[in-house]
Amino acid sequence: MLTMDSFDFKGHTALVRVDLNVPQDGNGRITDDTRARAILPTIRKIIRDGGSAILISHLGRPKGKVVPSMSLRPVAEHLGELLGVPVLFATDCVGDDARAKASALKPGEVLVLENLRFHPEEEAGDADFSRSLGELGDVYVNDAFGSAHRAHASTTVVARSFPGNKLFGYLMQAEIDSVDKVLGDPKRPLLAIVGGSKVSSKLAVLENLVGKCDALIIGGGMANTFIKAKGGHVGSSLVEDDLLDTARSVLEKAATRQIEIHLPMDAVVADSFNASANTDICASDRVPDGWMALDIGPESVKTFREVALKAGTILWNGPMGVFEMKPFQQGTIAMAQAVAEATDKGAFTLVGGGDSVAAVNQFGLADRIGHVSTGGGAMLEYLEGKVLPGIAAVRE
Ligand code: AMP
Repeated sequence: MLTMDSFDFKGHTALVRVDLNVPQDGNGRITDDTRARAILPTIRKIIRDGGSAILISHLGRPKGKVVPSMSLRPVAEHLGELLGVPVLFATDCVGDDARAKASALKPGEVLVLENLRFHPEEEAGDADFSRSLGELGDVYVNDAFGSAHRAHASTTVVARSFPGNKLFGYLMQAEIDSVDKVLGDPKRPLLAIVGGSKVSSKLAVLENLVGKCDALIIGGGMANTFIKAKGGHVGSSLVEDDLLDTARSVLEKAATRQIEIHLPMDAVVADSFNASANTDICASDRVPDGWMALDIGPESVKTFREVALKAGTILWNGPMGVFEMKPFQQGTIAMAQAVAEATDKGAFTLVGGGDSVAAVNQFGLADRIGHVSTGGGAMLEYLEGKVLPGIAAVRE
């Protein structure tokens, strides 16, 4: 396998799949440029070597049509400011303009092509469209971990145009290395912390992790389904009644494998799903009718923190409560702090999946985590044990 460090890009034109899918406000202003910053090391290495880079990405969901508000032009301009070099732009990702600008690129230059998803062929994984993209460069770099679970033209099929000349960018490699570190041969004990709203969206993750970890903390809304499955009373909390048997079988599998399972013993409850609701604290298996558990309680925080501080490796996916509302964010803040403390003590920690990443960033703790993943859906599928098409296409 080629690597970013060993490959000399001098004289090469790299076709780089990146994730410039940045959030924007109603006026097209970029509200969070984390994704653009995350790909800078890869681009800098290419241009420093004396190569040139053609960046391809999607932005939003234009569904195969040109939608001007989803143009990558403003993102390309912002990227130029971050890089400190002018970034060229082509108004389409295939066709004459893209071809002309790509072939005129000089060493050290960067070209961004317009939103791939303006063409339906991108998501369809169309072979001709992939070939047209492939003709623009002579080496393929995939640095878009957030799109690695999609078998699209630019993430997967295009790699066929580069036999022996394809590699992962720094960001993608760091994502892969960190999951492999957790699921491969982790420093024990391996603790998985899973939270978020629903069991249904994380069932495959839970089932895979229960076969690998030494301890499992289940928090967030999904904990209620487990508590109810054990005979607890959860009032009006979020529960998936059709998954009670499934929850029981996860608990049984954990017991058979002698995995420590930690469910919240207490909860912050509210009389409505509202930041200004009346709140109280009660045992998590005795939530009064009409009340709902919206965060883990102080006893749970204390226990979960102690468990985290004993771990050699921690994987965290999903918040402990409705952290978007202030009265219910203490559990998630405390968990984020405990994971940061465990990192300080030498544990390898990986926070993956949209909302827990947002929480770690919001509480200013990202710098104290081993690896904060950029890919929500991709990370979930990787944790389920799936082979991601974007990874397989480069390794093939
Ligand atoms: P997920 O996308 O599955 O990781 O879920 C994240 C969402 O779960 C966040 O929007 C949280 O507000 C929500 N959540 C966490 N805890 C609870 C809870 N106890 N009840 C309802 N929703 C929750």
